[in-house]
Amino acid sequence: MDAVDVIRTKRDGRRLSDEQIRWFLEAYTAGDVADEQASALLMAIVFQGLDPDELATWTRTMLESGDRLDLAAVPNPTVDKHSTGGVGDKVSLVLAPLVAACGAAVPQLSGRGLGHTGGTLDKMEAIPGWRADITPARMIEILTDVGAVIAAAGSGLAPTDRKLYALRDVTGTVESIPLIASSIMSKKLAEGTSALVLDVKIGSGAFLPEPERARLLAQTMVGIGEANGVRTRALLTRMDTVLGRAAGNGLEVIESVETLRGNGPEDLVEVTVALAREMLALVDIDTDPAPVLAAGDALGVWEAMVAAQGGDPGAPIPVAAHREVVPAPASGVLERLDARAVGIAAWRLGAGRARKEDAVSAAAGIVCLAKPGDEVRAGEPLLELHADDPARFAGALAALDGASSVGDRAPAALPLVAERVGPS
Ligand code: URA
Repeated sequence: MDAVDVIRTKRDGRRLSDEQIRWFLEAYTAGDVADEQASALLMAIVFQGLDPDELATWTRTMLESGDRLDLAAVPNPTVDKHSTGGVGDKVSLVLAPLVAACGAAVPQLSGRGLGHTGGTLDKMEAIPGWRADITPARMIEILTDVGAVIAAAGSGLAPTDRKLYALRDVTGTVESIPLIASSIMSKKLAEGTSALVLDVKIGSGAFLPEPERARLLAQTMVGIGEANGVRTRALLTRMDTVLGRAAGNGLEVIESVETLRGNGPEDLVEVTVALAREMLALVDIDTDPAPVLAAGDALGVWEAMVAAQGGDPGAPIPVAAHREVVPAPASGVLERLDARAVGIAAWRLGAGRARKEDAVSAAAGIVCLAKPGDEVRAGEPLLELHADDPARFAGALAALDGASSVGDRAPAALPLVAERVGPS
């Protein structure tokens, strides 16, 4: 086998054989194929795609490159959720304990944020003492005793994806549906869950803003899951504005806990309950999660889940030393508050990282004091910016320039869950 032949095959729009895919990925993981050759193949895939058989072999090879968790010892049925990421997307923090409170076990292996959307682990790490790294044995113990766990995906899970994803990040080859679908699904399949619900975001704050591409991604991931014996469904949910009011690690933890107390913002509750219903249906649990959330009955699971990983659920979340207010540009009804602009601003305030090795601030972020549809008055506070370092405000304010518009009528309220994707 020769790397250049494999690259040429895909470059010229021909099908890769199973042997070519396996050989190339295994040799790349072992260091026998160079980064520049892998980059060339990835770029060829961005332009030429992978057909369903190629995609199945590509995903399987990445899945088989590392460890697979065995969750057979967990007594309750296992079901997980993955989100393609949004601004203020704190759903996992509420959903995992909620679904566990309804009788399922939720093994959430998550990542850290890169770019304008936050990462679940960064949010959880705002809780004093909480640790993301646990062993598989400890994960099984927590799933058995508490029912939900949010933890870092260990380096042993799909190491080929880990190496390829880092390369894609710096070679402009992230935005390819087969590459995204295989990357996400190889990690989710390695986690050993029996069922999976995907929250695929659409709209300005989403990773893939266009609904057609998001739908294709959802269909592709559902196809991979089902082909590998994991019951998989996807919801396409709107991400045109911040979910809830807070974007930023600690600020989102505070809002999540309020939601678990039964006082959550309507949009966050709507998306969380819709996903919880899908998850519970997949594992044949006939409990409506809406009243469980409203009654605060999942808060105890949250506290136990945090404590099981060294966190103090009662400890105050760090607050930022500096605040700055952005006023409403006019009086009337807030028609638009752009999710992507708020995400970029929160990131520049310190809530996100530009490079994998950067640290994030637990306290930095943005609180939206009004949401689309609310009445605002010119000059009154619209956004509250939080930062540890006041030098960060200028970049955040620049990102927010033109991010909102005020008119005289409330925008049409579209359902947050735009579409449901099941196996075809
Ligand atoms: N998240 C992943 O894990 N992989 C991708 O390719 C894109 C988003």
